[in-house]
Amino acid sequence: MKATVYHGNHTVSLDEVPDPVIQHPTDAIVDIEYAGVCGSDLWTYRDQGAAAPNRIGHEFVGTVREIGSEVRSVKPGDWVIVPFRYSDGTCRFCRQGLETSCVNGGFWGRETADAGQGQAARVPFADGTLVKAYADGHRPDESLAAGLLTLTDVFTTGYHAAASAHVQPGDVVAVIGDGAVGLCAMMAAKLLGADCVINAGSTHADRNELALRFGADQIVTERGDDAVKHVLSITGGDRPDKVLECVGSAQSFATAIHMVAPGGTVSYVGLPHGVSIDVRDLFYSNITVTGGMSPARHYIAAVLPAVLDGRIDPGPVYTKRYALADIAQAYDDMDNRRTIKPMIVVR
Ligand SMILES: [Zn+2]
Repeated sequence: MKATVYHGNHTVSLDEVPDPVIQHPTDAIVDIEYAGVCGSDLWTYRDQGAAAPNRIGHEFVGTVREIGSEVRSVKPGDWVIVPFRYSDGTCRFCRQGLETSCVNGGFWGRETADAGQGQAARVPFADGTLVKAYADGHRPDESLAAGLLTLTDVFTTGYHAAASAHVQPGDVVAVIGDGAVGLCAMMAAKLLGADCVINAGSTHADRNELALRFGADQIVTERGDDAVKHVLSITGGDRPDKVLECVGSAQSFATAIHMVAPGGTVSYVGLPHGVSIDVRDLFYSNITVTGGMSPARHYIAAVLPAVLDGRIDPGPVYTKRYALADIAQAYDDMDNRRTIKPMIVVR
């Protein structure tokens, strides 16, 4: 079969790789139908982290082809959502909804696991990892598939920003960042009842337009202390109850802490780069900092009904579609900001 392989130094290609086979009775084989390219794939692509050559991609959905003898929750033909980490579903951390810390779990494309930007994958711990989107035999059309694909990572990551900040009805919420995760955080804040969502640091016209679609009530194009001033001018001087930091840079973290109300919460969900916090900046105003890597598997059940019944449509976060054969172009376009986020149509 064909799968995307990262070869180092801004190079990915669609290579011939071994067909996946059941190795353990808890495995399933999934025929991949749609895949996404993540901002963290781009970090790899830009040579910041992973070894090469290595399979790549961790946002994928598709149909179960085959299951091992101990798999109970899915069967061949089921249309499934695959979170960005696999997890056993039984350990202490899985039971408390922190599947990203599963003692037997792991990332796709590392060590012994397949990855998501290919025609198929062996899924370890199918019962603990896969989430069936429909009761039996149903499958989404392509427009709904995009929204369901966001649950593998990008939407559930934005949702983690809002959920871990305990966004609730009536809150004024600022979201820093206009990337795919920031857009999803705005939608999640609205879903959880935020009264007003302000997107700060959105500098591109096309992203402003998407932010409005994803739930922003106001857009602030400035960054840093100018963004704080502009936000306060919108709210009549009231600082936001919650600030969702969706960039991961030192400047956006500092802005979030300067912006939030005393007693408020800053949550962060992007992989931080070069960020350090002086705890005294939190002390005098009793600011809580929370967030981290989203346990996507935990949130899928909570948000799946909202996608299926059309209350939310995070699908447009995928701004351009590509055939699997054009995977190198998808990476190049995302790397050069010609698209916010590629969706790969595998079949
Ligand atoms: Zn576990």
